[in-house]
Amino acid sequence: MEISSHKKGLLKLLPGVDTLMEKIKQQASGADVPQTVIVKAIRLVINSLRDQILMADDRIGEEFVSEQKIIKQISDQIKSEMSPNLCRVINATGVVVHTNLGRSLLSCDAIKEMAIISGSYSNLEFDLDTGKRGSRYTAVENLICDVCGCEAAMVVNNNAAAVLLCLDTLARGKEVIVSRGELVEIGGSFRIPDVMLKSGSVLKEVGTTNRTHLKDYQNAISDHTALLLKVHTSNYAIIGFTKSVSLKELVKLGADMGFPVMEDLGSGMFVDFSKYGLPKEPTVQESLLAGTDIVTFSGDKLLGGPQAGIICGKTDIIENIRKNPLTRALRIDKLTLSALEHTLRLYRDEEKAIKAIPTLNMLTMPFDTIEKKAVRMKSILNGLNNPLLKTTLIDLPSKAGGGSLPALNIPSKCVGLSIEGVSANKIETHMRCCAIPVIGRIEDDVFVMDMRTVMENEFPVIKDAINDLLNTIKSPHMQ
Ligand SMILES: *Cc1c(COP(=O)(O)O)cnc(C)c1O
Repeated sequence: MEISSHKKGLLKLLPGVDTLMEKIKQQASGADVPQTVIVKAIRLVINSLRDQILMADDRIGEEFVSEQKIIKQISDQIKSEMSPNLCRVINATGVVVHTNLGRSLLSCDAIKEMAIISGSYSNLEFDLDTGKRGSRYTAVENLICDVCGCEAAMVVNNNAAAVLLCLDTLARGKEVIVSRGELVEIGGSFRIPDVMLKSGSVLKEVGTTNRTHLKDYQNAISDHTALLLKVHTSNYAIIGFTKSVSLKELVKLGADMGFPVMEDLGSGMFVDFSKYGLPKEPTVQESLLAGTDIVTFSGDKLLGGPQAGIICGKTDIIENIRKNPLTRALRIDKLTLSALEHTLRLYRDEEKAIKAIPTLNMLTMPFDTIEKKAVRMKSILNGLNNPLLKTTLIDLPSKAGGGSLPALNIPSKCVGLSIEGVSANKIETHMRCCAIPVIGRIEDDVFVMDMRTVMENEFPVIKDAINDLLNTIKSPHMQ
């Protein structure tokens, strides 16, 4: 295609890389930016402008290549390159264990200790008493045993890894009997049948989706059987005409027939939630008390710690798991280990745990407290004194999240925001794209923020974000 002389003229007007480099470096914001980042940003902007000129019609004017505008575009590009990719956000969704937003927040203790370990050498695998090599797992094994009352314990990267490792150790090349009602899929493509395939064990499904009887398990047992597995249906509920075999019955069957019984609890719980007005979730202690040989669960779901998979149960099985070469590939990192240790320490005093572990604190937060927060947030926003902004208090339920307590709606208080002439979608997008993103949701065409998961020290950030949005509406060229 022939390029018009007008466009050729515009292309010639594009400033050179060296000129732009000098200008950017003179700016205060350009001072600490690596040269490579500046060059990349300049090339990106100039190439894009060149393409736009070529694609445009001949009416495109010289202001398109104004140096001031180009420098602004490059500065914006550099700013975006220099800001962290993984960044803090404000969770105003009311979903406490939000997998997409990083699941659990750590307690202050865990954060403090983790920071120390990250900047110092540690006794990670060094026995300070003997001066010899030690085990990475001693930092948490006794604590887990104390809190859940098990014989032995072991930790890996996450619960998916824990399940894989247990199946590989206990049932490679053999059959694992599972109820059809428990063939769970959780987000991120973890499916019990797939994990089983990877572990080299064979899935033996028994019963039907809604009903499984003890005799179904009994009939499935053969020479090929290695393990009876129970999976906590953590992210869905089967209701109506249902029947499942209790852990107790399964443990008895396992003991009678000489097979170990494993339970994948998904989100592990040490605290009986029914004491705090929430529905009962099976606890790790109960599973072990029922006689389960091996129990696995997540560190960062309802437990409120770092991403980890915890395996606890009988000593001989844990010993075999430790010896499995897969263990090395799935091993837990020292920062995680430190955070997990200090989360577990809090559980030695339940009252303390509820206060100090953010996940537990938010889940058990009294409605009054949330309502007070909502009232305060609303009045801070009203303090912006903008006639276009309308704030409301709305009763909407929060969710536990993390694939746990699926049927649970916890009454909560939200602050609803509407701005005259601005759609709820536009508000949602603006809040999500702020320097510190605020993630809320839209209900009945209103942008709402659930105050259960928003902390008081985040209120000013939310206020600033909304103020910025209001300011863009005020400026005349945006109208
Ligand atoms: C969440 C979950 C897992 C996986 O745990 P991660 O810690 O996310 O790897 C496995 N099984 C069940 C039943 C779960 O709910």
